[in-house]
Amino acid sequence: MKLISHVEDLTSALDDVRASGKRIGFVPTMGYLHAGHASLIAEARAKNDAVVVSLFVNPTQFGANEDLDRYPRDLEADRLVCEKAGVDILFYPSVEEMYPAGVDATETISIPEMSNKLDGQFRTGHFDGVTTVMSKFFSIVGSCRCYMGMKDAQQVLILQQLVAQSFGDCEIVACPTIRDEGGLALSSRNTYLTIDQREIALSLFAMLDNVASAIEQGNIDVHTLCEHARSTLEVAGFTIQYFDFVDRTTLDSVTTPRVSGPYLLCVAALIGNTRLIDNFFIDFVDGRATVDRGIVATNMISSQENVATEAPHV
Ligand code: AMP
Repeated sequence: MKLISHVEDLTSALDDVRASGKRIGFVPTMGYLHAGHASLIAEARAKNDAVVVSLFVNPTQFGANEDLDRYPRDLEADRLVCEKAGVDILFYPSVEEMYPAGVDATETISIPEMSNKLDGQFRTGHFDGVTTVMSKFFSIVGSCRCYMGMKDAQQVLILQQLVAQSFGDCEIVACPTIRDEGGLALSSRNTYLTIDQREIALSLFAMLDNVASAIEQGNIDVHTLCEHARSTLEVAGFTIQYFDFVDRTTLDSVTTPRVSGPYLLCVAALIGNTRLIDNFFIDFVDGRATVDRGIVATNMISSQENVATEAPHV
């Protein structure tokens, strides 16, 4: 595995890869890799000739009061995960390398139609930071399949739009959410949770599951279902930012789904200072709901014992 931290070294390594006719799979991450990331790498490995993983905690996607400074980092553990997973190139640029003009002087790339809804309402400028850095990555990496998690569904939708508008030789491949045994979606930020908070956090998945099961049983009054879910989770100790059923193409709220979809049942909630997000993809086929709840990692791992897992669908 090549370890590269300079843009020009990456472009020249990738020129060599392309010259030999190889297809590139790209997995952008902020590091502190867990089985969710490993599942993206495994998919990229299976479907491409060469795999590039980036580790970059992108400052422009963090708000002023967010966790940029304390975001967990462990380059050595991440290097081992990537090496085990058969990654060809690990790219870990500095902030100066990605923002040579300086963070503040860099032109912002934006997809405004989708960036101000859901998470965008609570994380001002977050998706502008994501689209800005991903535009840089797509320009540097060039033609590729880019593997991203459905856990960050809004991010996937926004980047699909970015790619359609500006990077026609790149493709976003959305991969299922990987969960721990209790259903909690794996996240580098789970490391912030105390044992008690982790216990409470499990009810986020349980509540998504309750609502999805009600929908599967034919209850499509999603407005009432979501309202009930919000108040129950507040009592359990969460501060709910949204618990909503939305159109998966526009991200607008839907009160009673009348067409086949696609839809997204999604939540963002705080436990203490830790913000968690999660979602299920929901579609209706012949009037019946089909729900993608993601995948449970069979052997529970912590963020620092990162191994790819055999994983059955929930
Ligand atoms: P991050 O390092 O949090 O920026 O995430 C990097 C990529 O991993 C993004 O495409 C995320 O959507 C994806 N990802 C994060 N958590 C999970 C998970 N639990 N399951 C699947 N993909 C994930």
